Amino acid sequence: MTELRSRRLMLVHAHPDDESINNGATMARYAAEGAQVTLVTCTLGERGEVIPPELRHLSGAALGGHRLGELREAMRALGVTDFRLLGGAGRYCDSGMMGLPDNDDPGCFWQADVDQAAGLLADVILEVRPQVLVTYDENGGYGHPDHIQTHRVAMRAVELAAGAGWDVPKVYWNRVPRSVVEESFARLHDDLAGLPFDKAGAVDDVPGVVADEQVTTGIDGTAYGSAKAAAMRAHATQITVEEPYFVLSNELAQPLFTTEYYELVRGERAVSRESDLFAGVGEAP
Ligand SMILES: [Zn+2]
Repeated sequence: MTELRSRRLMLVHAHPDDESINNGATMARYAAEGAQVTLVTCTLGERGEVIPPELRHLSGAALGGHRLGELREAMRALGVTDFRLLGGAGRYCDSGMMGLPDNDDPGCFWQADVDQAAGLLADVILEVRPQVLVTYDENGGYGHPDHIQTHRVAMRAVELAAGAGWDVPKVYWNRVPRSVVEESFARLHDDLAGLPFDKAGAVDDVPGVVADEQVTTGIDGTAYGSAKAAAMRAHATQITVEEPYFVLSNELAQPLFTTEYYELVRGERAVSRESDLFAGVGEAP
C-alpha cells in the first residue's frame, strides 16, 4: 500500500449495491475531495434476486462473479479505487433472507465465526487506519442476516483494532431521519403516475429510519447525485433507477437520497449537527 492519505474513510457493507444505495454520494464526495475511501464488502450477494430477465439464469457463484463486475463499475462511477471483499472474494457467501434454509449453509456469512471474521476486518483497519468507519445498526438497518452480521463483525473489529494499535476515532451507523423519508414519499406519491414504476414502497421499507433527533450527521452529496445514480445503475441485477427514485427486485419505488445521514455511535461529536464525518478529528496520520 502506498502512503496513507490524511483523511481516511472506511465503509463496511454486506453485499455489492448496499454501498451505493446507502453511501454513494458520501463516497463520491470524499473521494473527489482527496480522502482515501475504502470499502469492505462481506459477501458477493450470491443469493440476490435478479431483476433483468436476460440475467435471471445467473445464480450462486456465477451471480457472485457478475456482481463483482457490477461493484467494480460502481466504484469507477464513484471514483473509489480501494474496495475489497472480506477475507477475499468468495470467503463468505450471501446468507439469503432471514428464515430461509440458506441461512444454515456453513459457508454463509450468517454462520461465520464473528471473532474470526472480525479479525480479518481488523487487519484491514490496522492497515488503513481510518478515522471514520461506517456500518449498519444492530438490526442491520432492516433485519437481513448478512446486514446484522456485518454490524456485529464491524463493531467487534473496531474493538480488536483498538486493542492492537488503531482506535478508530469515529464510528457511524447509516440512518435516515423520519421526516426526510416521509416528505420524500409524499413527493413520490405525487410523481408516481409519471414513473415507470407501478407501486410505491412505504416509509418503513427504508433501512435505518429513525426519529430526526437521533441523527447526528448529514452529508450533502447533491453535487454527486449523478455519480450515485450511475453507481446504483451499475448494480443492474439489483436496482432499476429513474432519478430521483429507484426500485429493488420487489418493484416498490423508493426515493434516492443525495443527502445521506448518519448516527455517531463512537467518538466525540464536534458540533450539535455535523455536516462532515471527519469533524473534530485531527488530520495527522
Ligand atoms: Zn444487502
